[in-house]
Amino acid sequence: MLSDLDLLAPDAILGLSAAFRADPRENKIDLGVGVFRTPDNQTPVMKAVKRAQTQIVDNESTKSYLPPEGAPGFGDAIVNLLLSEKHPAVKDARALAVQTPGGCGALRIGGELLKRAGANKVYVGEPTWANHKPLLSAAGLEVIALPFYNKENCVIDFDDFMSGVEKLEADDVLLLHGCCHNPTGADLTREQIDTIFDAAEKQNFVVFIDTAYHGFGEGLDNDAYMVREAARRLPSTLISYSCSKNFGLYRERAGALIAVGESADHTKALISHMTSLARGMYSMPPGHGGLIVSSILQDIDLSAMWRSELSDMREAVIGNRELLVKTAQEMQLGDELDFITRQRGMFSMLPVTKEQTEIFRDKHGVYMTGNGRINMCGVNTGNVEALVAAYKDVVLS
Ligand code: PMP
Repeated sequence: MLSDLDLLAPDAILGLSAAFRADPRENKIDLGVGVFRTPDNQTPVMKAVKRAQTQIVDNESTKSYLPPEGAPGFGDAIVNLLLSEKHPAVKDARALAVQTPGGCGALRIGGELLKRAGANKVYVGEPTWANHKPLLSAAGLEVIALPFYNKENCVIDFDDFMSGVEKLEADDVLLLHGCCHNPTGADLTREQIDTIFDAAEKQNFVVFIDTAYHGFGEGLDNDAYMVREAARRLPSTLISYSCSKNFGLYRERAGALIAVGESADHTKALISHMTSLARGMYSMPPGHGGLIVSSILQDIDLSAMWRSELSDMREAVIGNRELLVKTAQEMQLGDELDFITRQRGMFSMLPVTKEQTEIFRDKHGVYMTGNGRINMCGVNTGNVEALVAAYKDVVLS
């Protein structure tokens, strides 16, 4: 039986990183994998994380099991950070969270919970993050794509998206990106979010919001508009949260699944299902990352330090966007790349074909995913002119 299993192709994004490392060209440019990087290509441990980590190691007295909800204080700290203490759903104890192994764990448990509740179909805008489909279909949901982004014009095609959304029925699920859309960087406006929630109220479908870049777009409060509105307006909603990027904790696997229920008792019921689903999959999340996050968020000084470091990361990515657009204008590309400063978060998507991404790689040593997604962290003063020249050659000549 086991001998029937054939070798699978390597994961596309991880394969891209391996190809980049193996490329001997000195002027190669890595716009591939989705992690924050400084101009010298480092993904540093944040100072607030280092401090919290030292305190945890110094004071740790046991490695005994955590409860299935995760590190003490973690869930409340994330709910307060994302929704704020004064949010009506928080005040009414209708918003609670369990810690999960990263945002991926939250998406999978959320998918399982929706399936258990009777959902069969989850709708996603096209394109979406490549791992949404595997995670949600592994939970038994059918993942259906709706038109979302117009790649030629580099904007959201909202009318097209809404014509799809209008067909959703009660018991269907709509997956939205809370902020900093991956892979396009194209975020919905507040007005557009309100229109989607009008439809959710009218048609009674469930909104599941994936938030993996909180704080990377316009700041912690502005980036929370969608989730705060969902928790305020909709009878119930689910939110997956990742601490991988905004705390730089990638390999520690820290994330959360937040349930907002119709009443405090309903939310408790949802949490009881989440912990029972976790018990059947991995029992409980890893402790270290969650302890770091809760220690930071529960300490005024560490929290201030973390906010300032996050704000520096956000400004750095915005600076890279501006640098690329300014350089493109200076190198006579007109407004060709202007859309990049209108987008948010780590990613934008170039209007290129898969074949063109291969020419970028083979001829110019510029690595991006096959759909044209670029990580803006890979752009810097040392490579931006070469990047624009490559764009001119591959796309415009
Ligand atoms: N959702 C999106 C849109 C993401 O980009 C990511 C990370 N790349 C995740 C969820 C999950 O992140 P993790 O499991 O690493 O916390």
